[in-house]
Amino acid sequence: MYVYLLHFNKPINPNRPAQHYLGFTKDLDERIREHRKGKGARLTQVATHRGISFKVAEVWKGDRCLEKQLKRQKNSRRFCPICNSNLLKKANI
Ligand SMILES: [Zn+2]
Repeated sequence: MYVYLLHFNKPINPNRPAQHYLGFTKDLDERIREHRKGKGARLTQVATHRGISFKVAEVWKGDRCLEKQLKRQKNSRRFCPICNSNLLKKANI
């Protein structure tokens, strides 16, 4: 099983500036293909509909427990290498 983090190029909903989706799957390639087609999760469906693209920011080997642990932190940005590299660039490190 894999736990994965998707990073969206833009906030999906201006009122809810979540830019990440955390999910888990047995078949990562198949799951990502589904997401790209706008299937699999409400958030990726809306994103595809609005023409917002996403990248697979991070993948961990783990199961539902890990997904829950990560979700409980309520700050996916912290785990996101894309956001963090932007932060590093901004800080000029
Ligand atoms: Zn991110």
